[in-house]
Amino acid sequence: MPNPAAPPPPSPAPPTASPSAPSDHPRACPACAGPVDPDPRFTAWCPACEWNLVPAEEAAEDCAKSAKELARERAAAERTERLFEEVAAGRADTTRRDWLAASALAAPVHAVTVAVAGAAGWLLVTGNTPLRCLGALLLAVAFLLRPRLGRVPSGTGVLGRSEAPALYGLADRVAAELGAPPVGVIRVTEDFNASMAVVGLRRRSVLTLGLPLWEALDDRQRIALLGHEFAHHVNGDNRRGLWLGSAMRALAHWYDLARPAERTRGGYGAVALLSLIGDYLGNAFLYLVSRLPYRAYLLLDRLTARAGQQAEYRADELGARVASTEAARAMLGSLLLGSAVGTVTMRLRAEIQSRPQSRSRSGQREAAPGPDVTDLWPQLREHLAAIPPLERERLLRRSRRYGHTVDASHPPTHLRLALLARHAPLPAAVTCPPAEAAAITAELAPHRTRIARTLLAG
Ligand SMILES: [Zn+2]
Ligand SMILES: [Zn+2]
Repeated sequence: MPNPAAPPPPSPAPPTASPSAPSDHPRACPACAGPVDPDPRFTAWCPACEWNLVPAEEAAEDCAKSAKELARERAAAERTERLFEEVAAGRADTTRRDWLAASALAAPVHAVTVAVAGAAGWLLVTGNTPLRCLGALLLAVAFLLRPRLGRVPSGTGVLGRSEAPALYGLADRVAAELGAPPVGVIRVTEDFNASMAVVGLRRRSVLTLGLPLWEALDDRQRIALLGHEFAHHVNGDNRRGLWLGSAMRALAHWYDLARPAERTRGGYGAVALLSLIGDYLGNAFLYLVSRLPYRAYLLLDRLTARAGQQAEYRADELGARVASTEAARAMLGSLLLGSAVGTVTMRLRAEIQSRPQSRSRSGQREAAPGPDVTDLWPQLREHLAAIPPLERERLLRRSRRYGHTVDASHPPTHLRLALLARHAPLPAAVTCPPAEAAAITAELAPHRTRIARTLLAG
């Protein structure tokens, strides 16, 4: 869900392959003379002393941050590390206390909506005409303030059970292994991520699979991804529950409603000046009003963040139980490779655009045979397979330095990997036979073409 408090964390996502020319590529580390990766397609860096672990252009982003921002980031990273150590040692047990405090704080949020709706109903039933008008107004306000339960998605990207029986079949087996309810709806998007949500009054689950991430994984890693997502039903993550989840979404929505709008009108003269003053006063009032949901959201977010991260670690452990520890670790490692999608997309777009034009028999200009949108996914897999172990190691160490996360709700990827490494390796409980994998690939074929077209157009 959108977090009105904080902008998304900085996501250092440079191209996986270095743009440097082969002649720029040093053979030895200029700092310690140790060997560097000889492959000129990737960043030259030194695993011994970490020279050029983060190339200068990326490091510049860090230099641009204020001391306050850096201190805040350092404190957050220390808190995250501490929680990791507690979870790894089996000592993190604040979940119940945090959930109780957060659930208690959610009560006034729901109470505001109930009170406004109740007052509206009372005025509509017992009031005279002006009071009934006020009641109707309050009813409209209560409608705006209502808890947001989310909606079952429809339209492009949503797969019905009859359209994708093999994919639903695999998802059902993963869910059954974890004791989670079967998924309500699966949809595919163009993101390099995946998520599970529970929406609507009937609390239907919606599994969102980002196709670029799905295509970057092998069959075992896809099961690990499904395992992590279905584990969200059984890992005790109450942030997604009806009471707390809808209160947090309502607060985010209240903040959006009250947030001052940007001034768009211009002009000269007395009328424009009066309008300017009116805008400033109105915005100052809205700013003050929006502080309340903003602060309340921050508080709930802070209270649930710790328990939420514990739940994410738990989901990783459950994912490993379904797909094997090895597959779960490989899946997490792939989360660091999201920038490859941009690299391959840009390269293929340039190839398609530079394709020579030829004249057809009817005299119309058309592109000569060559690469097209359907090449995106094979090229992505080829590119990922070609990333050498040393570059993967660099990305992992870089993620440690930047605290890379897939999104604001997940712990840093390197800590998720480290936690799985601390447990004895588990074998796979669910596997995907080649015939089933081929059927899933066929079911997703139209979406592969559609999403490749969207990404290449962007
Ligand atoms: Zn070195
Ligand atoms: Zn998760």
